[in-house]
This record gives sequence, structure tokens and C-alpha cells, in this order.
Amino acid sequence: IVSGLISAMGKSKPYSIATKFLPRLPNKLPSLLKLFADKLHSDPGSINLVSTDFGNIVRESPAAVLRPTSLNDILSLIKSSYKSSTPFKIAARGRGHSLRGQAMARDGVVVDMMSLREHMMNNNNNSQNRAKIACVFHSLSGKHHHYADVGGEMLWIDVLRDTMEKGFSPVSFTDYLYLTVGGTLSNAGISGQTFRYGPQISNVHELDVITGTGEFMTCSPSNNSELFYAVLGGLGQFGIITRARIALEPAPKRVKWVRLLYDDFSAFTRDQEHLISINGRKQSNAPDYLEGLLLMNQGSPNNWRSSFFPSSEQARIISLVTKHDIIYCLEVAKYYDDLSYNSVDKDLEDLLREMGHIPGFMFKKDVSYMEFLNRVRPGELRLQAQGLWDVPHPWLNLFIPKSHIFDFNDGIFRNIVLRNNITAGIVLVYPMNRNKWDDRMSASIPDEEVFYTVGFLQSSGFDDWQHFDQQNKQVLQYCKDAGISIKQYLPHYRTKEDWARHFGSKWRTFRERKTQFDPKMILSPGQMIFN
Ligand code: FAD
Repeated sequence: IVSGLISAMGKSKPYSIATKFLPRLPNKLPSLLKLFADKLHSDPGSINLVSTDFGNIVRESPAAVLRPTSLNDILSLIKSSYKSSTPFKIAARGRGHSLRGQAMARDGVVVDMMSLREHMMNNNNNSQNRAKIACVFHSLSGKHHHYADVGGEMLWIDVLRDTMEKGFSPVSFTDYLYLTVGGTLSNAGISGQTFRYGPQISNVHELDVITGTGEFMTCSPSNNSELFYAVLGGLGQFGIITRARIALEPAPKRVKWVRLLYDDFSAFTRDQEHLISINGRKQSNAPDYLEGLLLMNQGSPNNWRSSFFPSSEQARIISLVTKHDIIYCLEVAKYYDDLSYNSVDKDLEDLLREMGHIPGFMFKKDVSYMEFLNRVRPGELRLQAQGLWDVPHPWLNLFIPKSHIFDFNDGIFRNIVLRNNITAGIVLVYPMNRNKWDDRMSASIPDEEVFYTVGFLQSSGFDDWQHFDQQNKQVLQYCKDAGISIKQYLPHYRTKEDWARHFGSKWRTFRERKTQFDPKMILSPGQMIFN
């Protein structure tokens, strides 16, 4: 398969000489699609590249791939489908870092947003394009002082680099920055900043969207608000995001990054919940970032997500893990700049004074702001060099109400996970505050003021991902049986009943918005909500 793929990749041909590969699109479509000249590709190499994703579990082939060089290309494609008596499916594909085919479009057309990004970057001489790829800065005298207008096809690393050049930064991130703005805003975009600033979707002022009817619309809380709230966390169902106006703050320079180890889950969660209770946006004593993870018997306590622990400490940590089976690792960070340089150590000391970690197991690092935010990248490059980045990833991400987090620890971490002894993965666990989310948006979260995210970020071999999937099923079944009303993050369901349950009281609105903005159900079919 791999060698076939590689040789196919070298033979990518444009649509014009490969119409025979479009058998499943409606007959009259090829003539319509000639409109796109060499931007539409249907050769096996092009098709293969978008028929899989980071999850590497699902495989769905589209009939063609659009490599747009302008927003007009996307607009014309959606219009062609919408106006056709036999509409075809269309999926925007950002970085394709979905896990279960969410950015795929079987027999339809995948819009490769990375091509748009490349085109914008390679055409810097064209002033219109430059404005698109570089962030455009604005100041407002109102509540939010600075923001950047960024393309939906841009990666968060692009946004961070461009904004930092001007001394600014977004406030809310994902752990990994090589994801597109459009892709993460279609989910939520969570990380250790979420407890304080909300998810990425809570930090957007305005969007440009091409809807499922092929209309280009600008929307915000005060203009076309129904579309604005639909699209944020909307799983790509209502339109393709082509521009997002992202809130910025002055960028800090450096980060004090701390990890504390616990053998007691109740002390661990008590400390996490205490730290996230200090969460005012302007509150100078608040942490800037809080996460947590499980350390289990995996050889090294470091992993691809971050290489934190110094080698001189690893033996000590490993023996602790061996003794307790699971060690809970609280991760907290405080940003600083020239102004706060003299006070940051004292602030951190105050913040961590009452923590209940195991004495002697607090570890500190001092890194640049960029190094901190981009901390996953070195691990990715290491795995890529070993050919281990593109293995199957049977991940499961959940939101769990605070009231059930002890049941979750007892029944799942200390029972299912330990018993199964599947250790090839990272398990994240950290809380966030519901009041930092906007309930008008499509994203679905638990109905409690504090809820946890747990991410089973597992890598497997090509033959054994089913073991992990089996464990994921056990986890979901346990929650069902124990009455733990979890929500999946980056959800993957196969039946309408499951989707209705997932969205709960939002389901009706979600369907009405679909009827309004994508009545022919063209967009993001790989989510399998309306298909
Ligand atoms: P894709 O996978 O390409 O697309 C996702 C969905 O959005 C699809 O339905 C697609 O059709 C739709 N879509 C894509 N672009 C657009 C657009 N412009 N407009 C409308 N719809 C669009 N998530 C977090 O929240 N926090 C994390 O810390 C985090 N870390 C991750 C680390 C890794 C290594 C990976 C692989 C994923 C991580 N994720 C994280 C999950 C990630 O946010 C989602 O998988 C996201 O969808 C990936 O973005 P993408 O650009 O690859 O989107």
C-alpha cells in the first residue's frame, strides 16, 4: 500500500487529462468542473492523499480534489453543487488531522485548504494575497484592543509567528500548532489556556463563511449571528470558514513551566480545580496554562507531546510510577515579560504554596514563549524521522462532568486502563470552566460549571489499532453503565440517535441551522451527521 501510494504521489495529474476517474460524480458534472481547469485533480495520487487522515483508520475516496488558489474557486464549487439537480458532497480539508474521516467526502470533492495556504504564501508579491496570509492588525478602543484577520486555511503556527512579529499573540491555543484555523474552529480548539480564556471559538470576533448554498457571508455576534454561532464548533456543517478575526493580547516573552507529581487523585484534582478557579482574564495572579496527564509504565516519562523531564530525574520518576502504577502529573505555566521578570518567581511560589503533590517531585523549566507553545513539534519531527508519525491513532477525547471524575478514575484509569495494560499512548486529564464557553455556539459540552477533558492519545501499529478501539468502547460502555454523562470531543458517531444525544438540547437548533445554511446537505459528509 505504502509503495503504491508513494509512486502514485509522484504521478499527480490535473483533472483535464484524467476525466475518466470521475465515474461517480453526476454525468453532467465533468463539464461544469472544466471551469476549474487544472485546479481539479482526480488522479490516484491526488485522491490517495486526501482519502486518509491522521487517525489512519478510516479510508474514503472522493471523486476529485480541488486545489483552490482563490476563495472564488471554493465559492464556484459549492455553487455548482448547490445548483445541480444532483448535488455532490464537498469537504474542506484543513491539515487532515481528524481521526475518523471527518474531512473526507466519499465520491464527492475534497477542497484542499493547504493548497490555498501554499498559494497565498508563494504569491507574496501580490498585495491582495499578502494581506491574506499575513495577519492584518487592527486596534479598537472598545473591549478588545487588538485582533488579526487570518485565513481559515492558515495554520496556528503561521498565526503565532505573524502576530509575534508585531508583539502580539492569540490567547487560546491547541497543544499542537500545525492545525488549521478553520479545522479547529469547527471543533472548539482546547488546551491549557481554555480554563482562563475559553476555547479558541470563544476568542473570535468575526468570520467570513461560504455557506452550503454558495453564498459568501460575513458574520459576527451582531451581524448574521445565527451563522456565526452555528459555524463555531459546527463540525464543518454550515459553511467553509475563509477568514477569522482572532482576539490578540500583547505577547509575553518567556514561560515558567512546572510539573508536579501526585500519587493521590483527589489531591491532584483538588489542586487543578483550585488553580482554574483563579481565572480572570486580567487577573495577574492567575496561571496562564493548566493541564494534567497520567504517567504510567512506559519506559520514559517523556513522550512525543513534550520532552520535559531532565534525564537525571527519569530513574527517580520511573521508580515512583512502578510503585504506584499511575502517577498524576499536574502541569502549570506562568508567562512573563520584561515587566514581570522580577516578580514571576514570587508569583509562582505563591500560586503553588499549598499544593498537595509528593514532596520533592516538583520540576521547573524556563523556556521562550514560542518554545512552550510549539512544544509538540520536536516530538513530531522525531517520530516522523522514525516513520512513526503516520501510524494509526485510535484516539478518544471526552468531556466529563466534575461530579463524576472520581468514578472515572476508579472505573477507567485504575481499572480498565491498568487491566488492559495498553501503554502506547498519552492520557491527558484537566478541568475547564463552563462559563468560558458560549452556549449559543454549536459545540456541545457537559452541563456542569466545571468539567474535565480526558484525551486517550494512542498510537498503535497497523495491525493492532483494534485493541485500542476495543478499550475505547469499554470506556464508553463503562460511562453509559455508570450513568456518567460524557460528551465526546472531536465526536464520532454513526447513528442519528447518537448525534441527537450528543447535541442534547442543541440538536433541534443544529438541524434548523443545517436546513438554513446547507439545505442540500453538501458539506463535511465525513462527520456522518446528516448522511
Ligand atoms: P481537518 O481534519 O482537515 O478538518 C476537520 C473538520 O473541519 C472536517 O469536518 C472538515 O471538513 C472541517 N473543516 C476543515 N477546514 C474547514 C474550514 N476552513 N471551514 C469549515 N470547516 C472546515 N484539538 C484541540 O482542540 N486541542 C489540541 O490540543 C489538539 N491537539 C491535536 C494534536 C494532534 C497531533 C492532532 C492530530 C490533533 C489535535 N487536535 C487538537 C484535534 C484537532 O483540533 C482537530 O482534529 C482538527 O479538526 C484538526 O484540524 P485540521 O486543520 O487538520 O482539520
